[in-house]
Amino acid sequence: MDLSVVIPLYNESESIEELNTWVTNTLNNRSISFEIIYVNDGSSDGSWDIIKRLADDSNNIKGISFSKNFGKSQALNSGFIECKGKYVATLDADLQDSPEEIPEMINKLKEEELDLISGWKKKRYDSLILKKIPSKLFNFVARCSSGIKIHDFNCGIKVFKSEVIKSIDVYGDMHRFIPILAKNEGYNKIGEHIVKHQARKYGKTKFGNERFMRGFLDIITLWFMNKFGKRPMHFFGSLGTIMILIGIIFTGYIGYEKLFIKTSGRLITERPEFYIALTTIIIGIQLFIAGFIGEIVLNSKSKKERYQITEKTVD
Ligand code: UDP
Ligand code: MG
Repeated sequence: MDLSVVIPLYNESESIEELNTWVTNTLNNRSISFEIIYVNDGSSDGSWDIIKRLADDSNNIKGISFSKNFGKSQALNSGFIECKGKYVATLDADLQDSPEEIPEMINKLKEEELDLISGWKKKRYDSLILKKIPSKLFNFVARCSSGIKIHDFNCGIKVFKSEVIKSIDVYGDMHRFIPILAKNEGYNKIGEHIVKHQARKYGKTKFGNERFMRGFLDIITLWFMNKFGKRPMHFFGSLGTIMILIGIIFTGYIGYEKLFIKTSGRLITERPEFYIALTTIIIGIQLFIAGFIGEIVLNSKSKKERYQITEKTVD
């Protein structure tokens, strides 16, 4: 099979049938063999009944349903696990992205030998204040922190080589950073393709303004995970060592002064150096403990989870 299309959806009953016809016709016209995997993320508006009906009518349409709304990242992840196609495309269910872009994106992926290609909503039909401006800022920070030169990290439409999506774990709200997750696993041939964008036809957006705060926190997490995720002690241990060294210097200084130099007779506990030494040593020890716990957590993962193998010549 050439292609798996994963479509996460939460209360999009008005769009599903229109979308299904659009995707199916587009891919059939281009003679691409495909499956569509709809992931119902705890909808309460009858979306799942529509998906079940579509899946009954056609054997390349599949559905997964969650017991409650777990979020777009979880929905994508569960779809990715089921994918059987050589390439995998993601698409939002709200008809904002056009499935007609998918065949072109696959061609570009093949021609340029990319690992993944992301859509770029260059001309965007969303509100200026609530979406366009914050999103520009957000993409700028994501670009700087990850070194990936694309304009629209969170575009719903993306095409991947299947091994890329099989290697990444999209959790929490990390669907906004799939290109970064891929790069962190070593898939750094990332391209982009300008896509047509439409205003939302039915319903309204499923994400509020908290998306930006969460997005920025997640960027910090990803930066940390990429740099120190496989060696937490190097991060916590370095900071801990600096703290403890500061503590030792101050302790040595007040101890030396007390023993060998005549002082004004102030008690050690009356001196700020004492408190600096005390707090830095305590913080330093805590940082070391965080480092040890990090190493224990990392060690409890199976060996295979710690790296990605792309090719092998041993059996
Ligand atoms: N979505 C989802 N679970 C959620 C929120 C959204 O599966 O908890 C789906 C939603 O149904 C749509 C896609 O993710 O297919 C993108 O959501 P939306 O259009 O609301 O986001 P926006 O376009 O405003 O960024
Ligand atoms: Mg949308």
